[in-house]
Amino acid sequence: MKMENKRAGGILYLVVPCYNEEEVLVHAAEVMRDKLGRMASQGIISPKSKIVFVNDGSSDNTWKIISDLCGCDDVYSGLCFSRNYGHQSAILAGMMAAKEHADMVVTIDADLQQDIEALDKFVGCYQEGCEIVYGVRNDRDTDGFLKKLSANMFYNFMHLLGCNVMSNHADYRLLSKRALDALAEYREVNLFLRGLIPTMGFQSDIVYFDVKKREAGRSKYTLRKMVALATNGVTSMSTRPIQFITILGFLVSLFSFVMIIYCIIDWFSGRNVPGYTTSLVVSLLMGGLTIFSLGIVGEYIGKIYLETKARPRYIIESVIWKESKDTAQKGN
Ligand code: UDP
Ligand code: MG
Repeated sequence: MKMENKRAGGILYLVVPCYNEEEVLVHAAEVMRDKLGRMASQGIISPKSKIVFVNDGSSDNTWKIISDLCGCDDVYSGLCFSRNYGHQSAILAGMMAAKEHADMVVTIDADLQQDIEALDKFVGCYQEGCEIVYGVRNDRDTDGFLKKLSANMFYNFMHLLGCNVMSNHADYRLLSKRALDALAEYREVNLFLRGLIPTMGFQSDIVYFDVKKREAGRSKYTLRKMVALATNGVTSMSTRPIQFITILGFLVSLFSFVMIIYCIIDWFSGRNVPGYTTSLVVSLLMGGLTIFSLGIVGEYIGKIYLETKARPRYIIESVIWKESKDTAQKGN
């Protein structure tokens, strides 16, 4: 049942994580402001809607550009991390700061890869009563072969582990104030929002959007960052890898037991074969499995260690925050 325009005209805050985005930021800021301006003039969102940039410890001029933008136009606000904490922390910080002022928050990348025109659909779903709207890519044509392959492997593995992760859902998503208040209750340090947010429930919907080529600059997701995100995704969402180890350990023990009986019978029958190859293969296999299993268990223990320390998820060094005036109109 549709609730016609019951939530029309809400205040929308766009949260934009930025890491070394000096090449694209000025243009992206204009495009985003214009879009909010158009939506506000059509009465879809409130003219008090805003854009919040989160500088994730950039080493280039990103923060300088954000400060200049904030100085020129009240539609922009900025948060600056004390160092690079990563995309997930930047999104979280922006959402937590925005939730006090906004009815809904949309997180979107700074590089304009995610089609900003899809914002109308996100807001449309919110107006029909959704608390969470997930953006899902229509395709991965803009990604290279390796990125496509690793993303597919990751999503398949997550599904194998029974995790409710939406394939090809980037962090382009809308959360209502209610959903943000719920998210604020989660205290985990190692964040994997794509897995965490679907566990909150709430009425939700999907918006499919086209992915474009990066307007400028290069991808900030290095291989190391992608591996860290994927490991975090697995360890924060599932303990099944440890269960797999238990099953594997049981099967190997069963096999060893059969081998022991076989060797004893062999010994009694007087057939004393040197068995060099067998011993070598078995000991190498066992060594490999043991170290691999220890590694997986160690990964979880490491995460527990970090979680128990409960360090801050990010430190905000500077804030430029503009109180809500009717600013989004300026985009027209
Ligand atoms: N980003 C960030 N911190 C990081 C890496 C990336 O805030 O440590 C931001 C980046 O500025 C961009 C978004 O996260 O706005 C997505 O990054 P990118 O476009 O480089 O990733 P890709 O689209 O290549 O997966
Ligand atoms: Mg990108």
